[in-house]
Amino acid sequence: MKKAIPYGRQHVTQSDIDAVIETMQSDYLTTGPKVGEFEERFAAYVGSKYAVAVANGTAALHLCAMALNVKPGDKVITSPITFAASANCVRYCGGEVVFSDIDEATILLDIEKVRRLLEAAPRGTYQGMIPVDFAGYPVDMEAFRKLADEYGLWIIEDACHAPGGYFFDSVGQIQRCGNGNFADLAIFSFHPVKHIACGEGGMITTSDRKLYERLLVLRTHGITRNPEQMQENHGGWYYEMIELGYNYRMPDILCAMGISQLQRANENMKRRHAIAQRYNHAFTPHSHIRPYLPSDDVFHAYHLYIVAIQHRKELYDALRVEGIYAQVHYIPVHTLPYYQELGYQKGDFPLAENYYEYCLSLPMYPSLTDEEQDFVIERVLQFFQ
Ligand SMILES: *Cc1c(COP(=O)(O)O)cnc(C)c1O
Repeated sequence: MKKAIPYGRQHVTQSDIDAVIETMQSDYLTTGPKVGEFEERFAAYVGSKYAVAVANGTAALHLCAMALNVKPGDKVITSPITFAASANCVRYCGGEVVFSDIDEATILLDIEKVRRLLEAAPRGTYQGMIPVDFAGYPVDMEAFRKLADEYGLWIIEDACHAPGGYFFDSVGQIQRCGNGNFADLAIFSFHPVKHIACGEGGMITTSDRKLYERLLVLRTHGITRNPEQMQENHGGWYYEMIELGYNYRMPDILCAMGISQLQRANENMKRRHAIAQRYNHAFTPHSHIRPYLPSDDVFHAYHLYIVAIQHRKELYDALRVEGIYAQVHYIPVHTLPYYQELGYQKGDFPLAENYYEYCLSLPMYPSLTDEEQDFVIERVLQFFQ
């Protein structure tokens, strides 16, 4: 039987395995030295001051919403084209999710539509926004920060698709996704299909010391041992629970794997770009296969390689027969039954819904071989003959 070709997959090397085994034989399985080391290295990689490792990307979003005090009645703006978790974190805290339509060229939250939303409501109507670096396309976070400041909103950047991606700001400086220069908080995931695979895992990055300290407490039950945060101190065993937190820790074993994976991040990014170039090149002569090409002012992180095509379902099914597991990212979140029950309906965001009709994510991961990619390209082209 032929090897299946998924849309994304982890790349695990012997050094990853060795790092995990070494940690399993050490004194710490959960919170130990690897957590801090991973946090430090990850912060250096994305260029943020602080990083907090957590159980997964969803837990990262939940803690961010808590740290920013999202509460019932709060309104938070996000994109309908994202994984449901980007929106769900607002619901965990009882807030209201307000979707706003995408920009057709970038598939990102359209800042002009967000601006109109803010202009149309009395000041103070909205508390925050969650732009998503969808597919690895970096959001112009400088522009969003400017808008957020005009209306007093906070920003959580969902950068799950974009570690290593960057945009050039208004003075031509590189601004890496999740670097904390514009968004208050940014989050990442280490799910196997993401750039850095740990099985489960997540990271919050920020340059705000207060938020950072609060996140450390929220990550572990709301418990602190920091004398500055405690009312009393009975001795070495003493801790205080100062607010209601969770157990959202990331184990040392998985952080060891993350440290090892991170060492190949640049190399893997080069490979993702090479794969994207090959697809672009192959599809250019075929006007019915339309890749989403990034503009010159961004460095795309290529978590996903997406094309817009006719007969998407037929192509999806035909590829599966060949062992090629293309995927659709994503079903517009506002059309999911849970969000429809909250009052959204089909037709609310026509550009997002139109994008969804034609999008297909083709295999994109560093260990995809040229031969495998050629096979994918050949089958896609053959389908349209
Ligand atoms: C993967 C992902 C998440 C959630 O991360 P988990 O680690 O799976 O919880 C959130 N947002 C986006 C955009 C994602 O791709």
